[in-house]
Amino acid sequence: MNTDFDAIVIGAGPAGATTAIRLAEAGWSVALVEKRDFPRRKVCGECIAATNLPLLDALGVGEAFRDIAGPELRRVGLFVGKRRIIAPLPPLDAGPHRWGRALGREHLDTLLLRRAAEVGVCVWQPWTVKRGQRDGALHACVLVRTGGSDKVRLRAPVLVRAHGSWEPEPGAQSGARAAHRDGDLLAFKGTYRGARIEPGLLPVLAFSGGYGGMVLGDHGLTTVAFCIRRDALRAQRSQTPGRKAALAALEHVQAHCTGVRDALADATQAGDWLAAGPIQPGIHAPWRADGSFAVGNLAGEAHPILGEGISMAIQSAWLLCDRLLAQPDGRAARDAAPGHIDHIGRDYARRWRRQFAPRIRIAAMCAHLAMRPHTAGALLPLLQASPGLLTLCARAAGKVRQPPVSPIGRIINPLPNGAK
Ligand SMILES: Cc1cc2nc3c(=O)[nH]c(=O)nc-3n(C[C@H](O)[C@H](O)[C@H](O)COP(=O)(O)OP(=O)(O)OC[C@H]3O[C@@H](n4cnc5c(N)ncnc54)[C@H](O)[C@@H]3O)c2cc1C
Repeated sequence: MNTDFDAIVIGAGPAGATTAIRLAEAGWSVALVEKRDFPRRKVCGECIAATNLPLLDALGVGEAFRDIAGPELRRVGLFVGKRRIIAPLPPLDAGPHRWGRALGREHLDTLLLRRAAEVGVCVWQPWTVKRGQRDGALHACVLVRTGGSDKVRLRAPVLVRAHGSWEPEPGAQSGARAAHRDGDLLAFKGTYRGARIEPGLLPVLAFSGGYGGMVLGDHGLTTVAFCIRRDALRAQRSQTPGRKAALAALEHVQAHCTGVRDALADATQAGDWLAAGPIQPGIHAPWRADGSFAVGNLAGEAHPILGEGISMAIQSAWLLCDRLLAQPDGRAARDAAPGHIDHIGRDYARRWRRQFAPRIRIAAMCAHLAMRPHTAGALLPLLQASPGLLTLCARAAGKVRQPPVSPIGRIINPLPNGAK
């Protein structure tokens, strides 16, 4: 059994799968380790911004995505209290597919993972990375079969962490999670059939102590996903003791957003409610002192109010692969000396900040306003009078900004714009 690779990627969400596909297509041997069986549902609003569509095409899953994703998202809304403010969503400036669409993570992540296997990635699933350590110039990861006891040790000069930010780090002591805080944001998602929501509308939900979104996605299913502060959820649960957290949270949302209550009035729940968190918005560490790279949520996480997390996952993976494949002398990073890998890491971290930090800050500002409808109340008449401000906000949040990386085509050869 081969246990030595050019790269090990931990986690097969959009960030990890994108990294694995691109490196494998460039001729690297790649191990992709995912602890869960797929297909699996996941807490997420599942809106995929239009900026990712050329990237999904380049990854080889664009057509399959379009075959099953929900309708084009052409309008954005704000549901707060009894108000419904609606405005156009800006389209991409160019290209055949100019609006984003929603697709369940059980489909998107499975499409990407299948594609990774097709292009030669060695997929370890369901295996959990338990710990990683340095072995000279190599990274060594110990994997255990999820739910079993088989163990294996993989080694590679390049380690990419794509295991998200909502679960303990591989190697973290059990019980090492931070203490509960009132301001923790807990995330929930429910899926409904027969909801009354206009196709192509993407309403942002603003309510005291939280925010969220609702959208019609694939197979006629509507996703309702939101974050709620721990103290707001506790207060709601104290009114209905014994009520499950997700249902208490939904009651809170429906009490504060008439639009959600109306949309779900005759709808039927499809599948269990899912919960995750606390989420960890903020800039984390795209490059780590142990010489590993992070992509997706683990590198940095935007408050999900703007639905840019999948974009940042795919696009940060893209950025990292550009750096790994773009060596000035044409050599791949896998052959590079550790000092050179550090150089690539610093370069990647700098570019990551330039590309993603503004999105994280804008999302934080919107999230804090949305969670405090009373503070934001002064803005509502203005938004009602000029809904176009919502369109501007979507533009500022990066919804139409093409990522400044090699956009289309298989990147088999190193890119000409070498690392600095
Ligand atoms: C309420 C809510 C709504 C959202 N709505 C949207 C939206 O509409 N649009 C959008 O773009 N984004 C949205 N997001 C954000 C989006 O879900 C995340 O940003 C995205 O999932 C990050 O992708 P990732 O690949 O970095 O990590 P993940 O998708 O979290 O994938 C990480 C993978 O790593 C695996 N893993 C973890 N630990 C290990 C281990 N030790 N060994 C092996 N595997 C491991 C996990 O099983 C998982 O499959 C939302 C988030 C929330 C909370």
